[in-house]
This record gives sequence, structure tokens and C-alpha cells, in this order.
Amino acid sequence: MHTRKSLIALALIAMLLISLAVLANTRDAAAAGGPGNGQCNRLPSSNAEALEILSNYYPGYWWDHTDITIAVQAHPNASSEQLEAIDHSIATWSDVLERCFRGLITLTNVTGTGNNPQQAADIVVHYVPTAGGVAFGGYAVCGDHGCPNIMVRSDLPPSLNRDPYEPEYLDWVTQHEIGHALGLGHTTNLWESTDMMGYGWPDLGDPVLSECDLEGIAFVFDWAFDGGEPYPPAAGPFDCS
Ligand SMILES: [Zn+2]
Repeated sequence: MHTRKSLIALALIAMLLISLAVLANTRDAAAAGGPGNGQCNRLPSSNAEALEILSNYYPGYWWDHTDITIAVQAHPNASSEQLEAIDHSIATWSDVLERCFRGLITLTNVTGTGNNPQQAADIVVHYVPTAGGVAFGGYAVCGDHGCPNIMVRSDLPPSLNRDPYEPEYLDWVTQHEIGHALGLGHTTNLWESTDMMGYGWPDLGDPVLSECDLEGIAFVFDWAFDGGEPYPPAAGPFDCS
């Protein structure tokens, strides 16, 4: 009898502890605002099959803080329309990160603050409108713990028949490069995918900054949802299905 009562008591305590753990987890998830909170899910899905994770290829290429800053350093010849397009691409990422993660992972445009962009920001977007003539659109230069320099030129391989100076196109190229700077690689179905991290756009359709891109960001920043010490992203590719 005594043993049975003890067992029931133990079972009740166990159930209580499990309930508390579930509650705590729910609260953490809500506070962190991770994917699955309904906000990321409202983003469009794309035809990406999976996303490569850049830190798998470049060890150290991940962020150990979540309040990421970004600044633009543009060539003096850049037009105001081109500068607006770059600002718009940064704002697009900032908004979508805010909506999805509710302040846990942020991207802040700090252009114009500090003595030079390198001192002011984690990520610096260099825009050189007249560079190239080669089939080359953007390039993220990555070092340990981050990707401080993004070169954005005005052409990209799949669309050589498109006006490379069109602001909307520059906006897309910059969004793609910011995706790299945050830690995303390309889609595994690179040439067929119109995901922002694919190469299928613009020939196969407009690019899509997708639910999977943001889930990929959550995968890269997994440590931030744990609330502990930063650790590198797990092995990808991140499956979009
Ligand atoms: Zn790329």
C-alpha cells in the first residue's frame, strides 16, 4: 500500500515536472519567436529543395552574436536609384528577420555612422556600379566568425540579357549576397530554383525570399535559440521540405 502510494506520488511529480518543462519550452519558443511561431510560416515558399550552409565549407563562417549591423559603401558614381535599391534590400531582410524572430536576430543598417563602414558594421556592402564586364554579380568575402565584406557588382551570370543597372535587379542581387553574409549557401537545386539563394531567377521567375531561407537562418543561429554559449551551425544542407 505504502509502496503504491509512493509510486502514485512519484508519477504525479513526474507529470508535474514534464508539464512545467513543456510550459517553459513553450514560453522560450514564444519569447525567441523561432520558426513555427506562425510569422516565418507566412513567408512564401519557394522551389528550393535544400540550402547549403556556408560554415560547412568555410569553418568559422558564422556569427556569434545576433545584433548584426550592416553598412553600405558605394562608389561615388552610384545613382540615387541604385543606392535606394541597396537600402531597400537591407530593409527587406531587416523586416523579415524582425517579423520572424521578433528581435532575437536583427539586421540594422548603420550606414553613415562611425568614421568608416568597416569600423561601423559587421557586414559592409561595397557597390561598384561600373565594375566588371565579366559574368559576376556579387561576392561575399568571408573570414572567421562572419562575412564582413560583400562586393556587389551590377551583373549576374543567368541574366546577361537583362539591364544590369535596373534598380530592382540590384536589389535582388544584394538580397542574395546578404543571405550569404548571414550564413546561407545556395540552393542544392541551384539552376532550377527561383529561391533568393538560387540561380534560377530572373530567367525562370522573380526571386523568392522564402520561408526556407528564414528557417535556414534559424538553423545557422541555432545557438541563439538555446540561450547558451554560441556554437557553430550543424551539418547541412538544410532540407526545405
Ligand atoms: Zn551566391
